Amino acid sequence: MSKIAVGTDVEAYCTKCKMVLAHAVVAMQGAKPRRVRCNTCNGEHNYRAEKPVAKAAAKKTGKPAKKATGKKTRQSWEEVMREASAKPHKKYSMSGNFGEGDWIEHATFGLGCVQSFVPPNKITVRFTDSTRLLVCNQS
Ligand SMILES: [Zn+2]
Repeated sequence: MSKIAVGTDVEAYCTKCKMVLAHAVVAMQGAKPRRVRCNTCNGEHNYRAEKPVAKAAAKKTGKPAKKATGKKTRQSWEEVMREASAKPHKKYSMSGNFGEGDWIEHATFGLGCVQSFVPPNKITVRFTDSTRLLVCNQS
């Protein structure tokens, strides 16, 4: 193998071409090239032996995924309410029949989401300010 020196060609990762290409060594640091000039685009940049794959790729794919899931769990109740108000919802009444996940409109408390059905005739409903136990299925 020929010795690397200023002026010789080395394989290096080109930050502009985004691939490993032949570069002419511009400056040395000890036995290693420090700055190189790309033979393809003539761009001069610091020497980098190979594409920074593993680290950069892992960071890129890992971060947004984490962010996305985090955002979803952090969806505020206000956002949920806004979405829900656009959906059909039932008017609450003591004689009504409601199930888990139903959106109801209460005369006093406003819009709420049925969290669970408590047999035989109650439902827990989450409203903006609190979760309430309401009567249903009353004949
Ligand atoms: Zn290049």
